[in-house]
Amino acid sequence: MKNAPLRKVCANCHNAYVEGDKYCRYCGAPLGTPKFIEEEFSCIYGPPPVQRVHTCTKCGFSWSTCLMIDDEHWCPKCGAAAPVTAVESDYDGVPVQPE
Ligand SMILES: [Zn+2]
Ligand SMILES: [Zn+2]
Repeated sequence: MKNAPLRKVCANCHNAYVEGDKYCRYCGAPLGTPKFIEEEFSCIYGPPPVQRVHTCTKCGFSWSTCLMIDDEHWCPKCGAAAPVTAVESDYDGVPVQPE
């Protein structure tokens, strides 16, 4: 697959990170010093449009994710804990029914 998009991933936990991040959002490992890895992007179908906002407890950097399983816990800028501070859903007014 010559044209398959590549993504940069953490050498420690192999989760994707964004260009410019200094720390892995998933495991908190410092990025950049070890060689970065590029993996073929694997497409996951049908994620619910839920957006979570993370805010760093130390430097205040915030970003949002729209993943079904959100495993991002660390600030990409300073490596401190960055818990979810807000959750937004595109399902406006539609209650989520349990099973
Ligand atoms: Zn990692
Ligand atoms: Zn931070």
